[in-house]
Amino acid sequence: MNDYLVKALAFDGTIRAYAARSTETVAEVQRRHAMWPTATAALGRSMTAAVMMGAMSKGEDKLTIKVNGNGPIGSMVIDANAHGEVRGYASNPQTHFDLNEQGKLDVRRAVGTDGMLTVVKDLGLRDYFTGQVPITSGEIAEDFTEYFVVSEQVPSAVGLGVLVNPDNTVKAAGGFIIQVMPGASDETIGKLEERIANVEPISTLIARGLTPEEILAEVLGADNLEILDRMDVAFACNCSKERFGNAIIGLGEKEIQEMIDEDGKAEAHCHFCMETYMYPKEELEGFIDEIQSEA
Ligand SMILES: [Zn+2]
Repeated sequence: MNDYLVKALAFDGTIRAYAARSTETVAEVQRRHAMWPTATAALGRSMTAAVMMGAMSKGEDKLTIKVNGNGPIGSMVIDANAHGEVRGYASNPQTHFDLNEQGKLDVRRAVGTDGMLTVVKDLGLRDYFTGQVPITSGEIAEDFTEYFVVSEQVPSAVGLGVLVNPDNTVKAAGGFIIQVMPGASDETIGKLEERIANVEPISTLIARGLTPEEILAEVLGADNLEILDRMDVAFACNCSKERFGNAIIGLGEKEIQEMIDEDGKAEAHCHFCMETYMYPKEELEGFIDEIQSEA
């Protein structure tokens, strides 16, 4: 089953909601980075939030999220766009701890609680929005909730879950973001708070195999819900040999000549997808020709 997300409205359009199934997306990042379970849960939760936030944007807008709580996992960096594409990495993907007291993957211990969650939105034409909040939970969902309230002034409820099999592969992943729009009545907010307080944990909903639509129906009540849109979700990296080649050209003639003299070749590595691109001597010489012909 392919990953996808849904956008929805609830309670007469005064509540906005997103839910995603991200199992294959998180499975792919786990495989590409040979991640251990606690790290997979931390990055998988962050990527699931990111892909839903991407869906909140339009056109060619992009966003980059950095989560760094100064814990053992180090920094997590995630890119997402408005087309359901997301990529990410963690500085220390082989991070794992014993389960916490609730019997869950101890994401807080991996992420830490002494750092920042930073969101940079690239709105095109060099227009950027940056929002930042201190990481106080380290469990990710609570930290995104705080981000929405503090940086975007949108009261929100965020649920994120990643289940990992004993062999480190991903069993299931998904989540939801519920947001209160201006104009929501106190009655609606009261009903919403009551529902969220009584709903099963997101990890349980995911383990039950619920679709994004079913997750929202569970959280908001099927009668209150209007599904607006549905979008495929996937791990996607836009790196290429050409793109890295342009970066090498940008280093300049002298630097490239040093690569030729010292190594006889160059290698470029993508942190996001772990792809490695090779540039043999002839290609590096071609780059120098290109620089000289443009000079
Ligand atoms: Zn890549």
